[in-house]
Amino acid sequence: MNTDNVLHQRAGRVEVITGCMFGGKTEELIRLLRRTSIARQKLIVFKHANDSGRYDPVQLASHCGGRLMATPVHTVAHMRQLVTDDIEVVGIDEGQFFEEELVGFVRWLRLTGRRVIVVILNQTFTGDPFPGPGSALLAIADNITLLTAVCSVCGEPAGFSQRLTGGKDVVQVGEKKDYDARCILHWNPDGAPTE
Ligand SMILES: [Zn+2]
Repeated sequence: MNTDNVLHQRAGRVEVITGCMFGGKTEELIRLLRRTSIARQKLIVFKHANDSGRYDPVQLASHCGGRLMATPVHTVAHMRQLVTDDIEVVGIDEGQFFEEELVGFVRWLRLTGRRVIVVILNQTFTGDPFPGPGSALLAIADNITLLTAVCSVCGEPAGFSQRLTGGKDVVQVGEKKDYDARCILHWNPDGAPTE
């Protein structure tokens, strides 16, 4: 390891929080980041800007209502610009929406002694690996937290995102009315289930 790159006198690490929709991934990110702020570590939190076009910090809201301020960005290059030398912890929500370059960026953050916590949706609603940087992030992670949701039909642990509305666009941003969580028995990978 090239120690010239190490800005902080500690070993960097990459932690991935993953699973299906409504599994509490963002809630877990908020919980972990709150602990680092109590420890007075300097942190920055990003979320994908999607099409909002906004760059002002926004509240990172989980489906469960937890909140933390995050900076919306469209690109990995923009995140890189905003990580100043004093930053010790980097949180990234909605990592699956970023380009493949996210993997190299996360590895660089680790190499420079930072703790990185990335949230990724692991599968599309068809059960395929989510396209983009997610699979590689799982491969390079030091720690992976796989969260399950609760099946909306039977109440058992759920690992699949059920599409409830029409369309096959994989990257459609999830809203409660468009998706819910299902176990393998109640999940229909073809999309909208019968009424
Ligand atoms: Zn079920």
